Order: sequence, then C-alpha cells, then structure tokens
Amino acid sequence: MFINEKAKDKQLKNNILAISNEAVKAKKINSNVINSTTGMMKNEDGSLYEFSCVNKVIKSLNTNEKFAYANSAGSETFTNAVLKTLFGAYLSQVESKCFLECIPTPGGSGALNLAFTNYVEKGETVLLPNHMWENYLNYGKEMGFKCSTYALFNDKGNFDIDDLKKKIDVLKKKQKRILILINDPCENPTGFCMKDEDYNALISIAKQNKNNQFIFLMDVAYFDYYNVDPSIIRFRYAKFRNATNNSFTMFVFSGSKSFGLYGLRIGALVALSKSKKEIKYFKDANNFSCRSKWSSASTLGMKIIEKLSLIDEYRKEYEEEIKYVCSLLEERSKAFLDSAIKVSLTTLPYEKGFFICVPCKNPETIMKKLNKEGVYVICTKSCLRIALCAINKNEAKILAHIIKSCLSNNDLKLLNKTLDYKNSNIGH
Ligand code: PLP
Repeated sequence: MFINEKAKDKQLKNNILAISNEAVKAKKINSNVINSTTGMMKNEDGSLYEFSCVNKVIKSLNTNEKFAYANSAGSETFTNAVLKTLFGAYLSQVESKCFLECIPTPGGSGALNLAFTNYVEKGETVLLPNHMWENYLNYGKEMGFKCSTYALFNDKGNFDIDDLKKKIDVLKKKQKRILILINDPCENPTGFCMKDEDYNALISIAKQNKNNQFIFLMDVAYFDYYNVDPSIIRFRYAKFRNATNNSFTMFVFSGSKSFGLYGLRIGALVALSKSKKEIKYFKDANNFSCRSKWSSASTLGMKIIEKLSLIDEYRKEYEEEIKYVCSLLEERSKAFLDSAIKVSLTTLPYEKGFFICVPCKNPETIMKKLNKEGVYVICTKSCLRIALCAINKNEAKILAHIIKSCLSNNDLKLLNKTLDYKNSNIGH
C-alpha cells in the first residue's frame, strides 16, 4: 500500500456534487426529473442564474486584472471591498472599536479550511449546529478535530441558546478554547434565521465565561439572501465589535453564494478582534497556510468583488439584482410551504434562503425512493434537504406532494434533538 495510514479511509459519502451530477444525467434523459440538489441559484427555466452586473465587471477588466497571479495575502483594495460588503454602513463603527483583517480564499470552503487549520488544535472539539452543512464534518476528519453539536432551535422554533450554553458547560471541563460555528442567516440546510436578541445572547456567552476563550466562526455564506434591506444583517454582524476580549470572531464569506461565482472559487476569511497582536497572528498564519495549501486565490474573483463592492454604479445594480433573486426564492418557498401545509408535510423552521428541510426517520432510504420517482434531493442525517434555489415555482409546488407520497407514517418523526455525529458516516 502506498497511501498513508490516515488517507486510506478517506472517501466522500453522500457527496452533494456527485448526487447532483446523477440528477443532471437523469434530467437529460427525462425532462420531468426534478433536480433539487445543489446550492446554485437557477432561473425558472433551469439555467444557472448569472448576475448581469458581474458580467459587466468582467468585461471591464484588463488581462492582468483577470489572469495575473494574486498575492496570497490579498490586497488593501480587496480587504476594503470585503469589509464594506460585510459591514456596510456599520464599518466605521466596527473599525473604531476593533482591528479587522481579511484574507482571500478559494470560496467559503477555503476560508473554513483556514479557520479550522489555524484555530483548532488536533483532538479539540468544535461546536456545530445539529442541522448543518455536513461538509463541516469532513474538515474534522481531514484536520483531526472532533465535532459536537448544539440544537439549532428549540420546540418553539427559536434559536436554542440554552442548549448551546449546556454544550459549552460540558466542553469547558475539557478545553479552555471553544470554537462555535454559526451559519446565519439562511442556514444550510434548514433556512433557519437567528434574531437580533440571539446575537446579543451569543456574544454575551463570552462575557459570562471569562475563564474561557471563544472563537465565533460565523459562516455568512448566504447573508445577502436574508432581506431586501441589507442593513438588518450587517447591524447584527457589527455587534461583535462589543464582544469581550476573551473572544475572537471570524467571518466566512463566499463569493459563490453572494455573487453566483460558484466555479470561480473565491471567498474570504475575515477576522475581528480588540487585539492588534491577534490580528497580526491571523494575517501571518493564514497567509502562510494559503501559500502552502493553494498558493493564492483567484485574481479574477478578487477583482470582481472589488469592483462590485467599491464602485457605486455596480453596487447599486447588484443590490437591485439580489432583490430579484430573493423574490424568486420567496415565491418558491411559498409554493412549497403552501403545498406542504395542504398535504400535512412537516418542515423545519424556514425563514429565508436556498434550502428547506423535511425531517424524517430514514432520509437516505427516502432519498433513494424519491430518485425512483425522478426526484433528486439531498439527505442529511435527519432530513431531506430541498434546494429551492435549484427548482422552479411549479416544481416547488408539486415537490411537497411527491415527498409526502414517499413517506410512510413511520418515517414522519420530527427530529430536533442534538444528534450524535460521532459514529456517523454521513458527510465523510
Ligand atoms: N458554507 C455553507 C453553509 C455552504 O452551504 C457552502 C457551500 O455550499 C459553503 C460554506 C462554501 O461555499 P463555497 O466554497 O462555494 O464558497
């Protein structure tokens, strides 16, 4: 055997991109197939949504701006662009209280890779939501950290801060530094969104546990799909400027989701801290990791983000376009949820975003049953994930009926307990 000991057990299971390829093949044979798999925004006719402002920017770029090597550390312009995108009108308030840094990455995935590489020790446990984008678990396997989960929401459908606190109390007996991953808003896979007061409660966790260190790893991949008023979510992100000194906040930004640049592989990891020294560590360590993992991020991707964020004309066009995309998602979610109510199909608390979840007992079996009906969705450990971004309004309307017809009474069990992923294969 030539492969090393650690690598020989690596195998992608329940790989979303592979399942999506299967669905694409099936749809080529039968146009009635419903492909509700990947997190890419599609038009009503099934074609990939292309932001026209992105196209305009690409046309305005010269050869160097598109194809020259980028610096692995990024640039001041890129940092300004991402910070402006992330904090909007609140940026100056954040800057007046904290130090900020940013590093370009290949997608949000690259940003997660850096955060887990440089902010978790081997053998440490990180806290993930119980309903999650299960790719997080792969990072654990790849980098040698453990994953534990907190309940994302309680029986009333509100963010379950009490369960998170309980999990912290357990974990703090074992380790001083605690990384909490939050994917908000438009959580993948549920579409759950936190509220203002949930952010206050989250941030005050650090204040209440002065002997611990907290890393808030904010996966904000879908933040631009939250509300037509972009200031609501940015106001919440800016709250981290008031976090106590025993906390360090990072934001995972995805150019794939914000600007539809999926295959271009561009994103960023942003850090916010009261300590200048911590911010220097962040930049140096992540610059080193970038260079040794993938060299540097996409120049073209960086330039698109710079122009879209910093040139008013493009920014305004983007804001109009994202409103239109949000309206498509709104219509599809309404069509799905209205039908779900009609056929008494339970869904997890959805507010906004690309995905809705149907909880059930044997998601993998149901997923395969649905494939036979010409329907492709993704399964998580506890749910079927419906990608609203990938289907049209009519498909959304009939999907609830088809799913309901594939579920037996025995499968319809609402699972909202913290799930034990320790022995799970899914996502690996
Ligand atoms: N975070 C979440 C919650 C996601 O759903 C995804 C992609 O589906 C990512 C991060 C990473 O996306 P990308 O690497 O394409 O930016």
